Amino acid sequence: MNFELEPAHLGWQRRVREFCEREVAVRARENDEKGVFPWDLVPGLRRLGLLGIIFPKEYGGLGLDTASLCLALEELGRADAAVALTVESHNGLCTNHLFLHGSEAQRRRYLPRLCGGEALGAWALTEPAAGSDAASLKTRAVFDGKSWTLNGSKTFTTQGSVAGVYVIFAQTSAKDNGSGKDGLTAFVFEKGHPGLQVGKIEHKMGIRCSDTAQLHLVDCKASPEQVVGTPGRGFRDAMKVLDAGRVAISGISVGIARAAVEEGIKWVKPRKADYGILPGQAGLTAAGRTLAQLASEVDAARLLTLRAAWLMDSGRPFSREASMAKLISGDLAMRAPTEILDVIGPAGASLDHPVQRFFRDAKLYQIGEGSSQIQQLVISRQLLAEDVPAAEPSAAAR
Ligand SMILES: Cc1cc2nc3c(=O)[nH]c(=O)nc-3n(C[C@H](O)[C@H](O)[C@H](O)COP(=O)(O)OP(=O)(O)OC[C@H]3O[C@@H](n4cnc5c(N)ncnc54)[C@H](O)[C@@H]3O)c2cc1C
Repeated sequence: MNFELEPAHLGWQRRVREFCEREVAVRARENDEKGVFPWDLVPGLRRLGLLGIIFPKEYGGLGLDTASLCLALEELGRADAAVALTVESHNGLCTNHLFLHGSEAQRRRYLPRLCGGEALGAWALTEPAAGSDAASLKTRAVFDGKSWTLNGSKTFTTQGSVAGVYVIFAQTSAKDNGSGKDGLTAFVFEKGHPGLQVGKIEHKMGIRCSDTAQLHLVDCKASPEQVVGTPGRGFRDAMKVLDAGRVAISGISVGIARAAVEEGIKWVKPRKADYGILPGQAGLTAAGRTLAQLASEVDAARLLTLRAAWLMDSGRPFSREASMAKLISGDLAMRAPTEILDVIGPAGASLDHPVQRFFRDAKLYQIGEGSSQIQQLVISRQLLAEDVPAAEPSAAAR
C-alpha cells in the first residue's frame, strides 16, 4: 500500500495550481457573469499542455497518467468548474475517443491538432430524446455504397459551437427503429463541414462560460474515412470512453467540493468565537461539524477518484470503481456548496461570494457523463452480477 503521490505528480499539481490561481480563478466571476466561451484562456491551457494531458508525446500530448489528469482537473475545478469542463471533455471525450478507437491515420491527423490546442474537441452522443438511454438515439446515417448521409440533431454538446473537431454518433442499422447497442457508429467531422450546423447555444444556470450547443446534421455527407472504429460498435466504444471520462470528471467534482470547504473555513475562522469552536470549548457547533464532515468526504472522494485512475492505468477493470468515484464526488460537489451556504448564511447567496457559483456549477456534475442514478445502476448491476460478497472493498483487491 502506498498513498503518496510521486514527486512528478506533486510538481505537476503545483504547476497547474499556480496557473489556475494566476489565470483562471481570478477571472471566474467575470466569466460566469458574461457566460461566453473564454477564448483568451486557451493559449494558457495550451502552453501548460492541459489540452493533451494523457496522450503520448508522439501525438503531441504530455504522456502523463490518469492520476495527473485527475489532479489537474481538481485544481481547475477548484478555480472554475466551467473551464475545467472544457479541459475534461476535450481530453476525456473527443480526443480520447479518437485515441482509443480511431485508425492510425485518424490519430495522426487529429491528435496533434487537439493536443496542441489548434482545435478544441466536441463529442456528441446526447439527443433531445436520448440521454441516459444512448442506444436509442435517432440520428441516422445511411451508406449508399460510396458515402454516408447523416440526418438528425444533437443536444447539450460541450464545445458544440467552438470546436474544430467533432466526434458524432448515429444509428447505422438498416432497421427503422434503430438497433440499440449494435447499431451505433461514430464519425469524425471538422468545423464547417457541409451539413453540420450549429444550433441553439444554451444559456445555463451554471458552468456558464462552458460552451454548450445543439448540432443539426442536414444531409451531412461523410466518407468511409470519417468512420471512427468499426461500424456498429459505436455504443460499446462510447461506453469505454465514458468509463474513463467518469474518472476524469470526478476530479472536477472533488475540486468544487474542496473549494466550497475552503470558502467555509475562510468564513468561519475569523468568526470562531461566534460559532463557539474556540479551543477548549466543549462540543462542536453545527458549523464545525459541517466543515469536519465535508473535509473528510472530500478526502474520501479524492481517494476513490485516484483509485479508479490507478486501476485504469494498471490495465485492470475499473468500470465499477469509476462509477463509484463519480457517484460520490458528483453528489458531494452538490452537497458541499449547499451546506457551506447554510454555514455562511445570506452573504453566501450574494453574487459577491463565490460559493453560490459553486452551487450553480455543481449540478452539471451530477448529470453529465451519466447521472448519479445511472452510476447507481452501473454499480448495482455489477454487484448483483458478480459472485462476490457485496462488501468486498474493490476490484483492486482481486
Ligand atoms: C451542461 C451539459 C453539458 C453536456 N455535455 C455533453 C456532451 O458534451 N456530449 C454529450 O453527448 N452529452 C452531453 N450532455 C448530456 C448529458 O450527458 C445528459 O444530459 C445526461 O446523460 C442525462 O441525459 P438526459 O438529459 O437525456 O436525461 P434523461 O436520460 O432523460 O434522464 C432524466 C432523469 O431520469 C433519470 N433516469 C434516466 N434513466 C434512468 C434509469 N434507467 N434509472 C433511474 N433513473 C433514470 C436520470 O438520472 C435523470 O435524473 C451534457 C449535459 C449538460 C447539462
